[in-house]
Amino acid sequence: MEKKPKPTFYVTTPIYYVNDIPHIGHAYTTIIADALARYQKLKGKKVFFLTGTDEHGQKIEKAASEKGLSPKELADQVVVRFKKLWQELNVSYNYFIRTTEKIHQEGVQKIFNQLLDKGDIYKGVYQGWYCISEENFLSEDVPVEEDGYKICPDCGRKATLLEEESYFFRLSSYQKPLLDFYSSHPKFVRPQSRMNEVVSFVRHGLKDLSITRTSVRWGIPVPGDSRHTIYVWFDALHNYITGVGYGWNQELFETYWPADVHLIGKDILRFHAIFWPAFLMAAGFPLPETVLSHGWWLKDETKMSKSKGNVLDPYFIMEKVGGEALRYFLLREVPIGQDGSFSHEGFIHRINSDLSNDLGNLVQRTLTMVVNYFSGELQTPGEEKELDRQLSSLFEVTRDRVIAFYDDYSINRALEEIWAFLNSTNKYLADNEPWKLAQRIEERSRLARILYQALCAIRASSYLLYPVMPETAEKIWSAMGEDKKPGQVLITQFNFYGLKPGQKVKKPRALFPRVELKEFIGGIKKSTIAEESSRKQEVKMDLVSFEEFKKMDLRVAKVLTAERVPGTNKLLKLQIDLGNEQRQIVAGVAETYSPEDLVGKEFIVIANLQPAVIRGIESQGMLLAAEVEGQAIIPFFDREVPPGTKVK
Ligand SMILES: [Zn+2]
Repeated sequence: MEKKPKPTFYVTTPIYYVNDIPHIGHAYTTIIADALARYQKLKGKKVFFLTGTDEHGQKIEKAASEKGLSPKELADQVVVRFKKLWQELNVSYNYFIRTTEKIHQEGVQKIFNQLLDKGDIYKGVYQGWYCISEENFLSEDVPVEEDGYKICPDCGRKATLLEEESYFFRLSSYQKPLLDFYSSHPKFVRPQSRMNEVVSFVRHGLKDLSITRTSVRWGIPVPGDSRHTIYVWFDALHNYITGVGYGWNQELFETYWPADVHLIGKDILRFHAIFWPAFLMAAGFPLPETVLSHGWWLKDETKMSKSKGNVLDPYFIMEKVGGEALRYFLLREVPIGQDGSFSHEGFIHRINSDLSNDLGNLVQRTLTMVVNYFSGELQTPGEEKELDRQLSSLFEVTRDRVIAFYDDYSINRALEEIWAFLNSTNKYLADNEPWKLAQRIEERSRLARILYQALCAIRASSYLLYPVMPETAEKIWSAMGEDKKPGQVLITQFNFYGLKPGQKVKKPRALFPRVELKEFIGGIKKSTIAEESSRKQEVKMDLVSFEEFKKMDLRVAKVLTAERVPGTNKLLKLQIDLGNEQRQIVAGVAETYSPEDLVGKEFIVIANLQPAVIRGIESQGMLLAAEVEGQAIIPFFDREVPPGTKVK
């Protein structure tokens, strides 16, 4: 059934929990939301984009008291960091909702009362296994362990058996309405695999949901029964309506609700795809269009988490390459819904190949030719030939595909299309060789056409790129002498031949200077990435040819001296003898070997590995070791071998 397009678009991110500082995962969700918001504005929609912070609950109370702060003070500090990051990433949200705001608290209490009157909320006694870390009762099907406890499947911590008076939401009454809703809205949850998960969970039956606590003080009080505070999820989820005017700006609320898309990480799917629509049904609100669940960013194949110390700091990356490159990488690298793996190699490849080469050089080169051959003034182009027309018709096709992909939330596919078109533009220039035509005076008008055509193509691709890289698109347009910004032109009004002869162009500074891997490795201690992980990524699981293997210079090394690297538990600094030279290496083996264990021992090192700086100490090689449960075990020789002997 084809629905009439709505004139508005409402997109949300989850509200972020303030016990954590902003990391790449937060940035990812928020950048997706921003790209969608900007795209919908290009389509002429009125857009509302909501983000914010979740500030209640036991974990916040605990984190704050550990820092000697009140929970609100802690939240205030973290909010500043989120807002600063969104500003630097050019995130165009309309409202930043905080669950400690009066408008939110009053809205939640109002709905609570309404559902209480209606009988969808009632008072009872809850007994269950509770994970303090997740602030969540474990699901009933988690088995009891031999010691009589349940282990939280999410964090692995021992759960606590709790019994307390609690208000319940009558979730069990909504099993059938939810299933009916899913079957009439098969795209409510995307991707499809997640929808299937949700349906199967609900089919197994739903139990009523405990939604208040007497054990937690830091929360919204239950109206008229202040011994209870409202459990964080009932509180938090309602931000999507209080943040858009519910209870304080009815006109705003009616303009934008229901949301078009709630962006979420897959770990909070159940709350958004089951509880949230049930709460809304109970209160009589229309339901959101789509819950779009994205995957996690893994660092070198492991999930980033604070406890593993491998969380990527977006500031560190932005310092090196800028926010635009980060936006591009995150949205280009993986389809929304799948997990992405962040490696510095992959990141650098995207920047150097896609941004610096395909896009940056194209812009730079073309504008430079206009500056050099025509003193920077766009000329009236000569006659349009078949080759030129091919480029403009290719754009029509590209634009339609890009629109379809953006509409389908397949941003990575949209970017693929844009890049294919950039490559065709590069090929157009290579085929037409304007630099040769420039040497022949009789070809001036042909030369003018080719440069005009190429600039139109660049202007058009940067227009399509605008939702993902707004600042880059604006820079390109301004270098072409456009007075409008790409964000001010509607898609329906966009014209490939929008450039006017007489327009003055200027040579821009390089948009994306190339970056080198060592810039990232050298700065690694400044970031929060564990120092070991950058070394681990040298290991690739692909097959190598014998030729490639031979490139590795493996040698027998004898340890002359060994000492701990101060301030670390893992690292030893070793002086080694390689036969005809001595070297220094830093090795992550201190948890397995003490310095005196190693002096006089021989092992294998990769002698021609690029030196790395670890904790400020240069390491000129790496020893080989097996890793067993985080412990490095070094293979030693069963007899004395002359230092420097080649291993093959
Ligand atoms: Zn847990």
